[in-house]
Amino acid sequence: MTLPIPRITRRSAFGGLAALAGTLARSTVGGTSTVPYSLATFSADVTIPIGHPCMGGGIEPAREIVDPLLARGVVLIGADRPIVIVSVDWCEIRNDAFDRWRSALAEAAGTEPARVLVSSVHQHDAPVADLEAERLLEASGADASVCDPEFHEHAVVRVAGALREGLGSARPVSHVGMGSARVDGVASNRRYLLPDGTPSFGRTSATRDEYAREQPEGTIDPMLRTISFWDGDRPLAALHSYAVHPMSYYGSGGVSGDFVGLARSRRQEDDPEVFQMYLSGCSGNVTAGKYNDGSPENRLVLADRIYRAMVTSWDSTRREPIGDIGFRSVPLVLEPRDGAGFTMADLDDRLRNGPRGFDRCLAAMGLSWRGRCDQGRPIDVPVVDLGPALVVLFPGESYVEFQLLAQRLRPDRFVMALGYGECATGYVPTARAVAERDTNLGDWCWVAPGAEEVLSGVLAVGLEARG
Ligand SMILES: [Zn+2]
Repeated sequence: MTLPIPRITRRSAFGGLAALAGTLARSTVGGTSTVPYSLATFSADVTIPIGHPCMGGGIEPAREIVDPLLARGVVLIGADRPIVIVSVDWCEIRNDAFDRWRSALAEAAGTEPARVLVSSVHQHDAPVADLEAERLLEASGADASVCDPEFHEHAVVRVAGALREGLGSARPVSHVGMGSARVDGVASNRRYLLPDGTPSFGRTSATRDEYAREQPEGTIDPMLRTISFWDGDRPLAALHSYAVHPMSYYGSGGVSGDFVGLARSRRQEDDPEVFQMYLSGCSGNVTAGKYNDGSPENRLVLADRIYRAMVTSWDSTRREPIGDIGFRSVPLVLEPRDGAGFTMADLDDRLRNGPRGFDRCLAAMGLSWRGRCDQGRPIDVPVVDLGPALVVLFPGESYVEFQLLAQRLRPDRFVMALGYGECATGYVPTARAVAERDTNLGDWCWVAPGAEEVLSGVLAVGLEARG
């Protein structure tokens, strides 16, 4: 399925944003940069302690640490103010927790929060961070927990410290590299057709149903993309992105970076001198289900497929002189979902009286997001313009169609889409998914129908040709 290319008009649903983006965009000129750029890298452990909730309280809490969770990032220096891109091995970072990450890393990097791109990798045996939701649970006496604010603060401070330390060993950047590789046998859309032709959305990360696994992959982005930064002919860092839910199996408290974390570690061991990052693309409706039965052995199989794509992508890299780096951030206003079960009164009631702890957690997360909407605080959609390549960060569990749309909006550029930025939205579905009653939108979607039109419009503005 492809989304229509939005037309930018003054009266469109994102009215006024086009004009605002114009003021935010820094006009840049193509070609070789006249500014000396440099790159710092940083990595810090953000593993949750035993007992910490996973996936916002929806599954077993942490019982054992199978492998550590990491926050890994780069700081691009010399572009007006520094730009930070960090990937975090957490399920989601939302609302005031997202703000805290951005402000702490911005302070450490000497920049502003809008220029800090925080992307969760979205493993499920990992935490969801939402500080206001946790406060609401505490205040209402609900016997349930989304996250531990004290641990959260320690983790953020540790990552900010690692960033600050990394600045001391920043290296000059002269070139940006771009590579890609088709990933075989990992991604498939949740949606497939039943024998009678009606859509099912039940192809989850681990799918044992043979019929569901036999059906076509559906709408995915089959390519893993790699952007790299170089000092002459010396590679400094490689940022890999691929659109798939990164879970092989989960839910029993085995904290892990899962198959993408394993692939990243293996790739890092190949050459310790080149800093490796993995970022999840827009994969709200994409899982490994067609290729994964959930057996523990299959985690290694999927890891190997991602690893091999990382290598092939790297081998295909072409280097170009880095252009003048541009940055813009477009505000995105998504209306909160407001039907039955999602009104303030319903959420309030569920916070206090929800039968399961997870019901109360979901209500708290919904209220946290609604409170933020009431304050009129839009989501930022940042775009980093590296000259030949563009990086755009999407909110929450944006569906893969938005990533494909971003590429179609700029066929003249290498577009890397990152998912799981501000995760307060939950799923950000297409209009078709809403119309077809995608069953995944039951409780983990806090945006009103109509998100496609608004997000598509914001993308068109954010990715427009530079000035
Ligand atoms: Zn998800």
